[in-house]
Amino acid sequence: MALSGAIAKRNAEIKRAAGKVARLVMKFGGTSVADIDRIRHVARHIKREWDAGHDVAVVVSAMSGETNRLVALTAECGVTVDNAEYDVVVAAGEQVTTGLLAIILQGMGVPARSWAGWQIPILTSEDHARARIAEIDTAPLEKGWKAREVAIVPGFQGIGPDGRVTTLGRGGSDTSAVGLAAALGAECDIYTDVDGVYTTDPRLVSEARKLDKISYEEMLELASQGAKVLQTRSVEMAMVHGVPLRVLLSFADPLKPEPGTLVCKEDEIVEKQVVSGIAYSRDEAKITLLGVADEPGVASRIFGALADASVNVDMIVQNISEDGRVTDLTFTVGKADLERAVAAVESNKIKCRELLSQTGVAKVSVVGIGMRSHAGVAQKMFETLAKKDINIQVISTSEIKISVLINSDQTQEAVQALHEAYELETA
Ligand code: ASP
Ligand code: MG
Repeated sequence: MALSGAIAKRNAEIKRAAGKVARLVMKFGGTSVADIDRIRHVARHIKREWDAGHDVAVVVSAMSGETNRLVALTAECGVTVDNAEYDVVVAAGEQVTTGLLAIILQGMGVPARSWAGWQIPILTSEDHARARIAEIDTAPLEKGWKAREVAIVPGFQGIGPDGRVTTLGRGGSDTSAVGLAAALGAECDIYTDVDGVYTTDPRLVSEARKLDKISYEEMLELASQGAKVLQTRSVEMAMVHGVPLRVLLSFADPLKPEPGTLVCKEDEIVEKQVVSGIAYSRDEAKITLLGVADEPGVASRIFGALADASVNVDMIVQNISEDGRVTDLTFTVGKADLERAVAAVESNKIKCRELLSQTGVAKVSVVGIGMRSHAGVAQKMFETLAKKDINIQVISTSEIKISVLINSDQTQEAVQALHEAYELETA
């Protein structure tokens, strides 16, 4: 059944909260299935939901470290890696977990069956190593549900139009889970090694507070601004298809499950905060072109060259030119892309007086849907940073986000001060 077709028919409601029998996709990441003891623990969470009468499909990651190990093996071959064969190798990690989990569930008296991506099938685009889900046939899983069977599905993998195994890109199991939930019209619980989504990284700010609810839009901004709880693409998909998404702790006692954080539609959040969270990323680099020609087509040439080199550009600032002839242009890219970005600009003979590149910068972003209707949010950010003597190098904004680029040594100080300024610990 086509993914979008399935969604059009049955938009999932949050049934379990109302005590109704529900369709449920439960996803467990690598650390949650790292060894047999942990898989047994995961199985108890699944048994709880199955005992309650819900129809359950489970999506699992590879055991933690396993995908890295498999990727390293392909690199060790010492030749250019064919992405189709790369997929065959790395998709194996998830398959092992599905079988182990099925064995353990069966041992607990829960009928369980594993399904490889190609058996269902989960059809994807043909881009090996970064495929996108196109269509999921839910019929085989639903047939199993009629017999009260738990379906166990490997995350990350699918099958392309050429009939070959594909993978969805690193961290893709979240997207598998949300895609499956969308196709099944199910709620989606993402079990992970944190107990929910926080106002900011608790390792950085001890006052960080767990959120009960957060909107898709805010989660999307937080995920793409460096908060690593969910793969960005999975949040996008949940938003488009209206999949209720819950992030919760897999290490919690299976008999006393914790509520975690619900990612949902904005109108399901009664108390809307002006600012909901603060994200940061230290993986940034800054490039400045001094004295670029101020004439039509220059930006197009620069960013075209970067796009051709597959470099993602994030923040961009261009000054007006004083003399009408030349101007300065600054933009940021991922730290890992810096060399490629510089090479792309240089090899395309973009005329400028000087090219400066710099690492050691961090992006700090303040996110909240309430910004749409409240003034002064940006001003508070700038004032707070000024008081801490933190220099802002670049600013960018969207409707619900303000980002600044600062010296990365000051990241913690900035995030802490902003967390306090927006009173996120008590909100
Ligand atoms: N195992 C894959 C990875 O490590 C997919 C995932 O776990 O989400 O990237
Ligand atoms: Mg993950």
